[in-house]
Amino acid sequence: MARAFIGFGGNIGDTRQFITDAIVCLALRSELQILAKSCFYQSAPVEATGGDYVNAVIEIETQLTPYGLLHVCQAIEQEFGRERPYSNAPRTLDLDILFFEGVIQNETELILPHPRIIERSFVLLPLLEIAPDFFLPDLGELKTYLPKVAHQKIEKLPCKNCNCGEKDVYRPSTH
Ligand code: ADP
Ligand code: MG
Repeated sequence: MARAFIGFGGNIGDTRQFITDAIVCLALRSELQILAKSCFYQSAPVEATGGDYVNAVIEIETQLTPYGLLHVCQAIEQEFGRERPYSNAPRTLDLDILFFEGVIQNETELILPHPRIIERSFVLLPLLEIAPDFFLPDLGELKTYLPKVAHQKIEKLPCKNCNCGEKDVYRPSTH
């Protein structure tokens, strides 16, 4: 069994619902178990066009190989109508494997760990929410990269079933 993290993002349609449903699709598969799920985050596009994105990260444990997991992720992207008209195009749903335990590789079809893991607030924030002390051998503790992405616009969305995002973004009027 290997531990892995998957990042979700999209900015066409009801992405929050798509991510929720995609996580259910993953949870139904016997080859993997979901260990943790971050809250949802809303982020401005980085080097991309279109509206704001909704993002989340999950931690899983899986018997799949890295490529097996990639193909599962790509099948789910297809189910949710993912199209790739051009690079960094707006998308209904993107699933990226951020980290796969014990695997470091630089193959075009699957680069691990994900090459932009420390460059995007929409990856770092949800990942660190569920794994605050996460580190990579070559990069060290990922939380040390937060200041470098502090300029990227992102906010945690209020959760429907808990108050975890409340202090950050939900400020009920006292009037
Ligand atoms: P992006 O996520 O970069 O915006 P795509 O989702 O269209 O773009 O993915 C482009 C290619 O990236 C895919 O064909 C996939 O094989 C490859 N890829 C390389 N490394 C990874 C990874 N760690 N997770 C997911 N896809 C990856
Ligand atoms: Mg992708």
